[in-house]
Amino acid sequence: MSKKLEALRLTPMHDRRRKLTEEKKEEIKKRKDTSSRQLAKEYGVSRRLIVFIQHPERLERHKELYRERRKDGRYYDRERHTASIRSVRNYKRELLKKGTLSFPQKTVRCIICGREFIMGERVKLCSVECVRVSKIMTMKKYKEKKKLTK
Ligand SMILES: [Zn+2]
Repeated sequence: MSKKLEALRLTPMHDRRRKLTEEKKEEIKKRKDTSSRQLAKEYGVSRRLIVFIQHPERLERHKELYRERRKDGRYYDRERHTASIRSVRNYKRELLKKGTLSFPQKTVRCIICGREFIMGERVKLCSVECVRVSKIMTMKKYKEKKKLTK
């Protein structure tokens, strides 16, 4: 069970480390005339994350430096690591119980943006943003139909 649980991937939606959807990141990339401080406030994330989103080359540089620094083991804490693995495992069990995550995982294509994603609670839509777009489109179609029948 544990190995299977290990192999079970969390969808972006379930990933607790993820604070922003891909759509929000795209929005942030485009808003270069708003200050990073203001954007951080608006999106509820750190200013650093905003800067990394707008300047991917800085994120790359940061990752490189981090990889170097961690080589001496300064970030490794056995207890924290074990606790974290346990926490993720329990989180997955919780999601399985709720039925928002399941075996086996199928990848499907989002009908709005076309991105491939692991099927979670949403059947054909990859994110909250795409669900929103889909609702708007359904509303438009409905209104058009109404006009035609008048
Ligand atoms: Zn999508």
